Amino acid sequence: MGGLKSKSQYARSFTQSVQTVTLIPGDGIGPEISTAVMKIFEAAKAPIQWEERSVTAIKGPGGRWMIPPEAKDSMDNNKIGLKGPLKTPIAAGHPSMNLLLRKTFDLYANVRPCVSIEGYKTPYNDVNLVTIRENTEGEYSGIEHVIVDGVVQSIKLITEDASKRIAEYAFEYARNNQRTSVTAVHKANIMRMSDGLFLRKCREVAENFKDIKFTEMYLDTVCLNMVQDPTHFDVLVMPNLYGDILSDLCAGLIGGLGVTPSGNIGANGVAIFESVHGTAPDIAGKDLANPTALLLSAVMMLRHMGLHGHAKKIESACFDTIRDKKVLTKDLGGNSKCSEFTGEICSRV
Ligand code: NAD
Repeated sequence: MGGLKSKSQYARSFTQSVQTVTLIPGDGIGPEISTAVMKIFEAAKAPIQWEERSVTAIKGPGGRWMIPPEAKDSMDNNKIGLKGPLKTPIAAGHPSMNLLLRKTFDLYANVRPCVSIEGYKTPYNDVNLVTIRENTEGEYSGIEHVIVDGVVQSIKLITEDASKRIAEYAFEYARNNQRTSVTAVHKANIMRMSDGLFLRKCREVAENFKDIKFTEMYLDTVCLNMVQDPTHFDVLVMPNLYGDILSDLCAGLIGGLGVTPSGNIGANGVAIFESVHGTAPDIAGKDLANPTALLLSAVMMLRHMGLHGHAKKIESACFDTIRDKKVLTKDLGGNSKCSEFTGEICSRV
C-alpha cells in the first residue's frame, strides 16, 4: 500500500460542518490500517478532516518523558483522536507511549463494546456487552518497591474520586446507549478496603440511576459465567487490572483483538479511540493487516461525536463485507489483502 495521504488530500468540503480529528497512525501495521480507515471515511463522505501526528517519546524539561508538543497541541485543540498501535520498545528507557497518552490526557475510562459479528464464527452468536475499565489507578499506579532483598511490594491504589468518576461514566454510558444494567466487578470479599471502597462508590452512584439495574459480582464468578454464557451481561464496570484482563477475555468471545474496538475517555472532553491489537510486526508493510478493529474504533468515535448516520453506514458496510465472506483478510479466514478488503467496504458504504 502507498504512504499516507496528506491532510489536505483528505480534507473535503461537505455541506455538513467538517470536524478535525487528530490521527496517530502508529507503528507497524498502523499506517496501513489508518490509510484503510481514511479511504472508507472518504467513500462514506464522513465529515471528518484528519490531522496526522506521530507520537514518539521525547524528553522534556527536567528529563521527564513526554509526547511531542505537536501531538499534544493537536489533541488539546481537536479533543478527539484516533490511534493505531504503538510499539513499546523494550529497554528504550521511556515508558509505554500508550501509558504516556493516558496520563497526559487523563484518559480515565477505557470502553470496549464486544458485540458478535454476524457470519463470523465464534463460540457464541449473540454477545452484546461493554466493559468499562478504570484506567488510571489500581494495580497499575506504578508504585512498586523492594522491601528487602527478595521481597517486592506493589501498591494497589483505589481512590474515592476515581471510583465515583468511573461509576458515573458507566451509568451515564448505559443510559445514553439504551442499555439496561450495570454490573460492578470486584473482589471486595478479599480486598475489603480497596475494592470495598470501589464497590461502595458504585452502590452510591447507582442510587442516582434508578432506571438502570445495578448488580455486583465477584470477578471470579464473572469469569466463570462469562465463558459459560456471556449473553446475560450488559455493561460491566471494574478497577484497572480486572478490566485489562476481562476486556481481552470478552474480545476473545467475539473473534479477538482484530475485530474489537475501544475508546479511552478523558477529562475535559478529550477522547482517543484505538485498535487494541499491537503493531503486528510479522505482517507489517505486506498489505495483510485487518483494519476492522481500527475501523470499528473510528465508528465508535463517530457515535461519540454524534455522527450516528455515518457511523451506522460504515459499520453496516464492514459487517456486510464480513458476513458475505467473499473478500476477507487472512485472520478472518480469507485470502484477500488489506487493500482489497478496504475496497470492498468502500463499495458498500
Ligand atoms: P500484536 O497484536 O501486534 O500481534 C499478535 C498477533 O496478532 C500477530 O500474529 C499479528 O500478526 C496478529 N495481528 C494483530 N493485529 C492484527 C490485525 N489488525 N490484522 C491481522 N493480524 C493481526 O501483539 P505483539 O506481537 O505482542 O506486539 C507487537 C508490538 O505491539 C509490541 O511492541 C507491543 O508492545 C505493541 N502493542 C501495542 C498495543 C497498542 O498500541 N494498543 C497493544 C498491544 C501491543
